[in-house]
Amino acid sequence: LEYHQQLLPLSRAELVDKLRHAMKKKRFDHVLRVEETAIELAKENGVDLELASIAALCHDYAKQRPDQDFIATIKEKHLDPVLLNYGNAIWHGVVGAELVADELGCHDQRILDAVRQHTVGAPYMTKLAQIVYMADYIEPGRDFEGVELARQVTHQSLAKGVALQTKQTLMYLVSTGKPVYPTTLATYNAWVPSNG
Ligand code: GDP
Ligand code: FE
Ligand code: FE
Ligand code: FE
Repeated sequence: LEYHQQLLPLSRAELVDKLRHAMKKKRFDHVLRVEETAIELAKENGVDLELASIAALCHDYAKQRPDQDFIATIKEKHLDPVLLNYGNAIWHGVVGAELVADELGCHDQRILDAVRQHTVGAPYMTKLAQIVYMADYIEPGRDFEGVELARQVTHQSLAKGVALQTKQTLMYLVSTGKPVYPTTLATYNAWVPSNG
């Protein structure tokens, strides 16, 4: 897939090269599988393939950054101080989108929102954001109880896939006593009762 729109000041090959150096091989391979799945879902849902490719490739750009980079960004950009109570799991998407903008030069809000929302979702998500959220969950390397059902549901209805993942994630967080980020709960309320 070659990029023709000016969504990023990089070719796909240049982006992939930057990503290869920003993370370990296992994470990089996951990112490539998320791109592949996001492109499939984009074709099925009439979403622009270049947007899907870029958003998927960038979604975990910041995953392997030290905590200090996120803490500094939260402070410098005056992001919600509640973020400081969380950790990498939340930061790499919500704060990582800022690093994608500043360091990769992507200023397309559709792409940045998809990166920002890929872990915790949002009450309103574009089709692109839903695709990245779901591709991350069902890419072919994922192997958990129920992943095959999640794949079937998502290819049948993107919104039902979002609801399924959101419900599973909240159940997992509650059952293991982990802190629930407020947006995760807002995503649950917006998607699960209406798509159960
Ligand atoms: P990955 O980056 O490809 O591994 O996948 P994600 O970005 O989707 O998820 C990263 C981690 O964040 C997963 O282990 C989720 O269970 C976890 N996570 C999602 N929502 C929340 C939340 O509200 N609170 C906490 N503590 N963790 C969450
Ligand atoms: Fe992630
Ligand atoms: Fe995810
Ligand atoms: Fe991911």
